[in-house]
Amino acid sequence: MTIPSAETRRTRRYRGISYVKPIAAAKEAVPVIDLADRLAGPGKMRRVGKTWTTNCLLPNHDDRTPSFVIYPETNSWYCFSCLRGGNVIELARLVWGYDERDAHVAAANLLHEFGHDVPQRPPAWFRKHERQRHTRTAIEDTKKNIVRRRLFKHLILPLVDTIEDEEEHNRELDRAWLEFQRLMP
Ligand SMILES: [Zn+2]
Repeated sequence: MTIPSAETRRTRRYRGISYVKPIAAAKEAVPVIDLADRLAGPGKMRRVGKTWTTNCLLPNHDDRTPSFVIYPETNSWYCFSCLRGGNVIELARLVWGYDERDAHVAAANLLHEFGHDVPQRPPAWFRKHERQRHTRTAIEDTKKNIVRRRLFKHLILPLVDTIEDEEEHNRELDRAWLEFQRLMP
């Protein structure tokens, strides 16, 4: 058995980069206001004193009034309606649908999006994480769909089934299912 040289050991340890690296780099390189501005689109930010506000940028929050506030001084954000907030990584993570343990992947994407160098990991590592993320999302979606269909069947279908006219029944069924999906995304 050969004992690895000090050089090899150092290389190995270096390649298992800590998760903190892209996170620290993205926090440093990408101001919250830049990401928010890009997500909101041109002309959607309103200046209020030292802060900027816009309609909530997070998915699943259909915000009709501007509840989303950006604080350039602390480089942070907060939505006063859905009560979520944090730093630039947290915003990227929630908007792009990464779960908490993948915050470092969101950070790497953030650096990439804004044209900064990403602290390197082997490309295979990112591919693996992308695959895992898709699998997790698919599982979550399937679970949600099952719950949605079951609720629809038990709550709504009995109501629709009281309609005797077949055409009207089918029309109402289509309409109810569409509405139900909108209410239960
Ligand atoms: Zn919100």
